[in-house]
Amino acid sequence: MSARPFRLGLIGYPLGRSLSPQIHRAALASLGLEGDYRPYPLPPLPQGEARLLELLAALRGGELHGLNVTIPYKSAVLGYLDRLSAVARAIGAVNTILVQEGELLGENTDAGAFWADLQRLWGERLEGDRPALVLGAGGAARAVAYALLIEGWQVVVAARRREQAERLAYELNQSVHPLPEKGGRGACAARMPLRPGGSASLQEARLWEAWADSLQPSLVVNATPLGMPPQAQASPWPRGAALPHRAMIYDLVYNPPHTRWLRRAEAAGLEAANGLGMLIEQAAGAFQLWTGLQPPREALWRALA
Ligand code: NAP
Repeated sequence: MSARPFRLGLIGYPLGRSLSPQIHRAALASLGLEGDYRPYPLPPLPQGEARLLELLAALRGGELHGLNVTIPYKSAVLGYLDRLSAVARAIGAVNTILVQEGELLGENTDAGAFWADLQRLWGERLEGDRPALVLGAGGAARAVAYALLIEGWQVVVAARRREQAERLAYELNQSVHPLPEKGGRGACAARMPLRPGGSASLQEARLWEAWADSLQPSLVVNATPLGMPPQAQASPWPRGAALPHRAMIYDLVYNPPHTRWLRRAEAAGLEAANGLGMLIEQAAGAFQLWTGLQPPREALWRALA
């Protein structure tokens, strides 16, 4: 890999609270690489289109070497790229763009990052076929559900809009199914039941508790923004409904580091973690695609300490 200055960046809107510049600058510094990682705030389409095209042209022309993508462009950018990786295509969202053989390739490092962080946290507890409950059905939920399905989990998605959860289940069932078997357990379209929770159960604690209890999930993942400003006091779990016994609790929200939901899970004696590790892993995955190098994780954690 050449010692060129790496010009990297992030597109999305708004970007004022993003931690990605800190992580990637720490990655460059820890490896002694020259370069920078800049936020490129792009208002949503159609206003942002002209600037988006400029940035993609800079990438293709070699003036930029890599871009991360965040809200609201993770899906919106798909139509502007030449190719998608199999993972990005299955999830329907891109968080990393790189140039390969002159073409713009869209990749998604969120799914692998989520699984890597789960392994770091809970290792052997993840073995075996287990049910997982994913709260929310947006882009992050798709990455999480994809990672779990590929690893042989049964996944149930609960969202306030039932049709969104059903679409997620249907599309992932379609796209995960044809993938080759992994680790002998196989990709498991059939294991995602097409019975996502409806909005009624999200509002009705008693119904929700019975429903969630019947699933007996080993893992519950919050993939909604509930718990994050401006909804910092909100919890994705209905008030008054008991948390599942012995489930591992993972909150994709990392700012604040201890959401109300995490505090409640910890108070109930459950093992609980926020999404900072996933954030670091998705950044490390993108950085490796752009530079060919794995940044030392301690340096990335230190940058956010
Ligand atoms: P998204 O595409 O907007 O999806 C959010 C999901 O949450 C949708 O299903 C949405 O439903 C639901 N939701 C939003 N507000 C809700 C509410 N008040 N009550 C119930 N459901 C609600 O967002 P995303 O990209 O998936 O991101 C979700 C969260 O994950 C964000 O907090 C993001 O910061 C975090 N995240 C973390 C990482 C990490 O590395 N740790 C990576 C990616 C994302 P509607 O469609 O009906 O609004």
